[in-house]
Amino acid sequence: MEHHKLSLDQLQDSFSEIHPRYTPNEAIVEAERCLYCFDAPCIKACPTSIDIPTFIRQIANDNLTGAGTTILESNMMGHTCGRVCPVEELCVGACVLGREHRPIAIGRLQRYATDHIFENDIQPFDLVADTGKRVAIIGAGPAGLSTAGELAKRGIRATVFEKQELAGGLSTYGIVVLREPTNVALEEVGFVEKLGVTVRTGVEVGRDVLPEDLLREYDAVVLAAGTGRVPPLGVPGEELEGVVEALPMIAATKLADKDGTEALTRIRVGNEVIVVGAGNTAIDAATVAKRLGAERVTMLYRRGREEMSAYDHEVAFVRAEGVDIRLLTQPVEVLGEGGKVTGVRCVRMRLGDPDASGRRRPEPIPGSEFVLPADQVIKAIGQEKLVALYDAVGVEHASGYVRTDGELRTSNPKVFAAGDCVRATGQALTVTAAEDGKIAARAIARQLGVAEPVPARDDTRGRFLHATVNEFGRIHG
Ligand SMILES: Cc1cc2nc3c(=O)[nH]c(=O)nc-3n(C[C@H](O)[C@H](O)[C@H](O)COP(=O)(O)OP(=O)(O)OC[C@H]3O[C@@H](n4cnc5c(N)ncnc54)[C@H](O)[C@@H]3O)c2cc1C
Ligand code: SF4
Repeated sequence: MEHHKLSLDQLQDSFSEIHPRYTPNEAIVEAERCLYCFDAPCIKACPTSIDIPTFIRQIANDNLTGAGTTILESNMMGHTCGRVCPVEELCVGACVLGREHRPIAIGRLQRYATDHIFENDIQPFDLVADTGKRVAIIGAGPAGLSTAGELAKRGIRATVFEKQELAGGLSTYGIVVLREPTNVALEEVGFVEKLGVTVRTGVEVGRDVLPEDLLREYDAVVLAAGTGRVPPLGVPGEELEGVVEALPMIAATKLADKDGTEALTRIRVGNEVIVVGAGNTAIDAATVAKRLGAERVTMLYRRGREEMSAYDHEVAFVRAEGVDIRLLTQPVEVLGEGGKVTGVRCVRMRLGDPDASGRRRPEPIPGSEFVLPADQVIKAIGQEKLVALYDAVGVEHASGYVRTDGELRTSNPKVFAAGDCVRATGQALTVTAAEDGKIAARAIARQLGVAEPVPARDDTRGRFLHATVNEFGRIHG
């Protein structure tokens, strides 16, 4: 499993952000195509209800601070979301222009606006007087940071406990660099900290800090711990050298993006790589393997395309990268020689009757076994749930997810939960974690008797925008 087949320059190119940033002229031309629809479908399709036509209008008027403020007011994680949201399925997919023309590139415009805010260190929110209320948050991923930032807007001070060395959760350690450079995630952490949030990294709740202490010392506790490691495949040969977990491999590329790209040359990748799984993590792991220089990358999934959680555009992307996706294929054994991986024995599957989840159950086809050669196997079959932590905090859970009501209250009235750890149904996304943060913060504030926040500072919104909207209204779509 020796590399590096690629030079440092090639690696650097392979791991730079896919879409270049708009030039000012490109951004204005794109923004001016927007119809500023009344009752805009793009807003309805955004889980955080960003006022998209308004921020696009602000970009068209060269009011980038106003545009960034409009975004961040609705979505504290807007800097990340402009890059990683599956916009084809959300706002862009709903854009009326998509019916006959090219839809507006809302994600790229959003990124253009938030880049302006972060690069110029603009703080659109006034610091709010401290109410004296204190909230502990477990996990500094998008859900924890969004909750903390939204609480800060209400004068409620949050302390976020994060077990990793860096905050940002999967924005920092998971989402592939091509979509989100690591510094974008870290800038977002800094932005939330400047609102008065304390982030304590390298502190694991349950090990370094006890949940009962948090419950005693704080007015409320928020579980925003995401999910855990990739579970074992449960097949013989899993202990062989060359069988690796997807998330640490992706995380290594994220850290290399921060620490200097020569670290990419130290990440081991095979020539013939098999990725087991077909979700977000598997797609990103396959992309990373290919971009690190693997000759052949094959994803194995035991069900069919319809059951894959990956979106069409993700599948198209990974296929364009040259990754082969083998559906209805299950690994049954990792083969090796001299302690090292040499291949994977697979069996072909067919779909039988629906199981309890309503999905058709995959069944092996007798006598259909075959061997695929491999010198690296990447495990990417989902992530374990943090039930030990839920139990330690003392909240009810079902099928690995914390049980909550519509306001994200758990079975313990002092504990709320947000993000991937509550997402039993639907896609686990950064944007849904950000929206959870808003819902949880609103509910906590109400429970603690704290008033709702005032909108972002007026001077950042720009007078011209108000004049334009008042004078002409929005054009009906
Ligand atoms: C490889 C990959 C690619 C993805 N790509 C996309 C994408 O392109 N677009 C998109 O929208 N979404 C994507 N997602 C999903 C998205 O990253 C998650 O939905 C989002 O990060 C969830 O936020 P969260 O805060 O709930 O959890 P996380 O981001 O997982 O954050 C949870 C944090 O809690 C910390 N923690 C856990 N236990 C403890 C403890 N006991 N004490 C202290 N801290 C603790 C963890 O270290 C972590 O930092 C991707 C996910 C993966 C894995
Ligand atoms: S054209 Fe309409 S739907 Fe499309 S981005 Fe503009 S306001 Fe949204």
